[in-house]
Formats: sequence, structure tokens, C-alpha cells
Amino acid sequence: MSDKLILIVEDEPKIAQILVDFLSMSGFTSKVLDSGLDAVASVKQDKPSAVILDLMLPHKDGLTICREVRQFSNVPILMLTARVDEIDRLNGLGIGADDYVCKPFSPREVVARVEAILRRTCTQDTISNPQEVSFKGVVINLEKFSCTVDKVHIELTPVEFRLLSVLIQKPGAVLSREILMTNCYDDARVVSNRTIDSHMKNLRTKLNVAQDEPSLIHSVYGIGYKIE
Ligand code: CA
Repeated sequence: MSDKLILIVEDEPKIAQILVDFLSMSGFTSKVLDSGLDAVASVKQDKPSAVILDLMLPHKDGLTICREVRQFSNVPILMLTARVDEIDRLNGLGIGADDYVCKPFSPREVVARVEAILRRTCTQDTISNPQEVSFKGVVINLEKFSCTVDKVHIELTPVEFRLLSVLIQKPGAVLSREILMTNCYDDARVVSNRTIDSHMKNLRTKLNVAQDEPSLIHSVYGIGYKIE
């Protein structure tokens, strides 16, 4: 049980209501917006713990909202789409959503996904980890979920943070996409390689912007990634 606020941006009232009901059964409070117009303002104002964001919305679509939110917030975003083939395309765009669910969905599954996202952002997975791990000027705090590069704080999404924290604990080791996926998603569902690549691309861009040194994260053709 929690008193966490979930922002639901969904223009179909029936879908919004069923989400509200199921979230409430799991102890979440919800706020519903039926258009994309005020979504970004609501994230700023209401500071929700997570956002369930429909892709097709009146006034402003989910893609635009997601991009705008990512300018200032790493709030977990679960995106709803009407087409399963959209998910791969959206991942390729690297818009920074943390998870995707295709309509029609089971509300139970959506709640489980929300809970999984929140778990990932609120707990650390291995107790043997020291709280802080650093490598060449990049310092991550596994308890506070914060990251600094040359002492300057940088904002990472939950998935980016998990990817970096897995890599940084094994400098020089090449980690396969499968290993990275397993560490970034709690459930065993299949995530395409492009998903990892797209999150990794965003992560590398953020690190490169913050640091003058050549990129620390290297892709290893046909295998995965390493930090070196
Ligand atoms: Ca819609």
C-alpha cells in the first residue's frame, strides 16, 4: 500500500476509469487528464510518482508530452499504445518512456507494470552493492538514484540509471544486451535489442555532454556494451 499519485493521461473515459479503479485497489491515488493539453503542467505541479500516458490524445500527443516531460523530469512513464508494432518504432525514437503497454490491456498488468517501474526506481537490487560506485569521474549513488559527472549532477531516466549502474560495477567487462535487459526489467518479457540500444544511446549522449573525455561507454559489435 502506498499513497503514491499516478497521473493518467487518457482520453477514453472507460479506460481511464478502469485504471483508476485498479490502481486504487493497489493503494494508489490517481489523477486523470482527458487531453494532452495540461499533462506537462500537471507533472510539474502534482509531481506524480509515475505517469500512464496514452499515445493518441487530443491537443497534444503522448510522444510530444513524453519528450517535453523528459526535459525536466525523470518521472517513470508507462506509455499506452493501440498497436503492438508501434512499440518498436517508439523505442527506436528514444523518447524516454520507461515501459509500453499495448491496448487492449489487462488493467492488472498495467498496475503490475507501474509497481515494477516504481520498485526499480525505489530500491536497489543487490545488497552487496556499496552505495556509491564511481568510474572516471562518473559517480552513481545506488541509494539516492543520483548520478554526477565531474561533480555535476545529471538527470537520468530509471532505465538509463539501471544500465549505467550495471556497467559501472564491471568496468572493462563486455555485457550482453540480454544481461543488461535482465538487470533493467524485472519481468521476463522480451525487450528488443533496439530498446536497449535506444536507452543506451540516450545515456551516452547525456554522459558525453557532461564530460569532455571520449565516450566511456563503448558498444561491442554483435555482443553488447562495456564501460572503459
Ligand atoms: Ca487515445
